[in-house]
Amino acid sequence: MRVTVKYLAQLKHAAGIASEEIDLEPGCTLGKLLANLAARGPAGISGFLSPALLVFVGEDLVHTDTERLLCDGDVITLLPPMAGGMEVPPLTDDERGRYQWQLWVKDFGDTGQRRLKASSVLVSRCGGVGGMVAYALAAAGVGRLVLAHAGDLRLDDLNRQLLMSHAGIGRPRLPQAARKLNDLNPSVEVVQVDENISAENVTRLVGQVDAVACCAPLFRERLLMNAAAVAQGKALVDCAMYEMEIQLTTVLPGQSPCLACLYPEEPPGWRRDFPVFGAVAATVGSLGAMEIIKIIAGLGETLAGKMLVGDLRDMSFRRVSIARRPQCRVCCSDAR
Ligand SMILES: [Zn+2]
Repeated sequence: MRVTVKYLAQLKHAAGIASEEIDLEPGCTLGKLLANLAARGPAGISGFLSPALLVFVGEDLVHTDTERLLCDGDVITLLPPMAGGMEVPPLTDDERGRYQWQLWVKDFGDTGQRRLKASSVLVSRCGGVGGMVAYALAAAGVGRLVLAHAGDLRLDDLNRQLLMSHAGIGRPRLPQAARKLNDLNPSVEVVQVDENISAENVTRLVGQVDAVACCAPLFRERLLMNAAAVAQGKALVDCAMYEMEIQLTTVLPGQSPCLACLYPEEPPGWRRDFPVFGAVAATVGSLGAMEIIKIIAGLGETLAGKMLVGDLRDMSFRRVSIARRPQCRVCCSDAR
């Protein structure tokens, strides 16, 4: 039988090829194929074949499922963690102390922490949802946060924008956010961009980071971030809320559906102002931050190809599968 192995991101450069077809004995498992690649695959890839590698069979993320039987025609995709390259700085004693409780997390450890330290994340906007994403990522030790959000704090922001303070009403949001983040973790570099996402700045801003936390309430901004992230091969986590409901999904370019597969155009009638509690914003923000941490550190299973739908009114959560739109103008190369 014959399978196709695709190499993505840095792995593609290390392998020197984007994909190859490999003949296998019937009954071959994924574990045997990976061992085979480590021993006899393209030179340079063995250093990537760690538990942190994301392995997909078709659309399924199966990186820990090494006993999975492969079938004729399977497409196996190998996606290394995206953290600004494989050169990750060592941890200082102070960092080992600060992050000790998460260093105990299975499959994370020293390597995961160093990947966070080497990484950069764009958070836009930085209000109820994005503020919580940024706060959790700063606590976790992401090295560089690029915050994009224009404008001044209003009284009606304060039920959910937890990085702000009452005394800051009428003042720009970002200096307040940066101060709060650095009060928590002085080693995080916070870059303040006093702009909302636009067609003029989105390519530049996405180009500065390894991953994108998409927390804007407006579809125009979310779809711009999606298109730039897909074009640049950057992971994007989309966080949305309304009243007491949340939606969360992850876009891994080349691997999963994108936001334009779900929303081919801006939905009509969507308004910036809507009913919501701060605790709902903090919930979806915390979940979004956890997705970013998993993607950068290379652990767990992401929401790529799935959407988490939650209703805090009755505390029901479910994951639904989402599919690529065949002629998606953003992620389907045939349509571009
Ligand atoms: Zn798409």
